[in-house]
Amino acid sequence: MDIKHPAAQARSGQKTKRRRTPRLAVKEPIRVFATDYRGRDFVEDSTTLAVNLHGAKIRLGRELIPEQEIRILSRRTGLEALFRVVSRAGESEGQQSFWGVESTDPKQNIWGIGFSPPNSVEQTAIVRVMLQCLECRVRELVDLDEALLQKIESADGLLRGCLTCGRTGHWKKVPYGD
Ligand SMILES: [Zn+2]
Repeated sequence: MDIKHPAAQARSGQKTKRRRTPRLAVKEPIRVFATDYRGRDFVEDSTTLAVNLHGAKIRLGRELIPEQEIRILSRRTGLEALFRVVSRAGESEGQQSFWGVESTDPKQNIWGIGFSPPNSVEQTAIVRVMLQCLECRVRELVDLDEALLQKIESADGLLRGCLTCGRTGHWKKVPYGD
């Protein structure tokens, strides 16, 4: 087993990692679609331990393989994207193992969280909007950052996974009241 002194680990980490946005220690509910190391497809509801714009640290009850691609759906925003498994992150705890994953398309922010670039004082405002699944008509209040909201306004909606009807379809922004 490879146990490094924490300081040495931090030094080598600095060299290899380009951390472009701050990593936030937030527990976001996720649904993971992947193939386990035996080649069996699985879907598992879990949580992140930390997220940034380009990746996340997640917990899972199954073993993955570095370099494999997995699909992660944010159960808060309903947005999903492909991620690449970078490495195991820390020791397993019982059935739970921890994994570092990296977004295959860093432009896609499924977390709906505004990540300010380092050394920036700019704050991204979070806006609460009501979205409706056009497949099953369920409505959901979602907190989104302004950039994503703008995208929804200009595209007249967004593609989003629905936890009620289980489909990935078109969601529209609807008024709060009616
Ligand atoms: Zn639906």
